[in-house]
Amino acid sequence: MATMTPKADVLVQNFAPDHPIVGDRVIEGDGTSTDAWQNWQGLQDLSRLEIAKSFPPQQRVCVFAPHPDDEILGCGGLLQQLVANGNSIVLVHVTNGTQSHPDSQIYPPRLLDTIRPQESLAALEVLGIAHQVTCISLELTDGDVFAERAQFHQKLAAIIQPDDILVTPFIHDGHPDHETTGQVVAAFAKEHQLACYQVLIWAWHWAKPADSRIPWHCALRVDLTPEQLQRKTEAIACFKSQITVDESTGNPPILSAQTIARISQPWEVYLYEPQS
Ligand SMILES: [Zn+2]
Repeated sequence: MATMTPKADVLVQNFAPDHPIVGDRVIEGDGTSTDAWQNWQGLQDLSRLEIAKSFPPQQRVCVFAPHPDDEILGCGGLLQQLVANGNSIVLVHVTNGTQSHPDSQIYPPRLLDTIRPQESLAALEVLGIAHQVTCISLELTDGDVFAERAQFHQKLAAIIQPDDILVTPFIHDGHPDHETTGQVVAAFAKEHQLACYQVLIWAWHWAKPADSRIPWHCALRVDLTPEQLQRKTEAIACFKSQITVDESTGNPPILSAQTIARISQPWEVYLYEPQS
């Protein structure tokens, strides 16, 4: 007999006792190809997220980026559409992404602490939305947000207002800081009965079309116009620290050409469950 997967609460999860990552969502190698996603009919068939209906203009939207760049990689299209819709936006950088370049002479943590938020601001300006976005940094530790999850949760109470709509990475996005951010924000949303959308970012890398580890029945697609995609692509190019070779260590770019191509598509996907 077939068992039904319970629909409710697939997007909220209690923490594993010692680590947020559960096994198989590994970000390694080249990941799933852009072609594989482009050719998957299931992605074309997803319901569309109706911005005007789901994000009434008077409601503020809080977007959570574990590292400065996730807001653009995941939500560069949605952000443009929200600003056009009249929503004011709070962008919360959970960390300043200071640990992206271990042992680098060019990008030591103390420089990344200012460089990466500056890159984010430049990207918002390229999108033409900087005037309508308020940026906040929680200054948690890059790579170790899980250890600071209680502090993270406490900080949310001072930021989030009763009518806000939240956007956060998928609770199973595959990067520990992304998963922790998703879990903390989704849990806060559930406690306070707030709408919460979870964006796929690193999931595009490790997941496959129709992957059963993603609750596609909760997925909503945002279509980007060619102009919006162009601006998103130009905004991604602002993250110089992430897209260039580190000459001091010889390490390749953090965001490979394949990663950038895979995320630079005319769609973004958000997972959403109405609060029960
Ligand atoms: Zn990230």
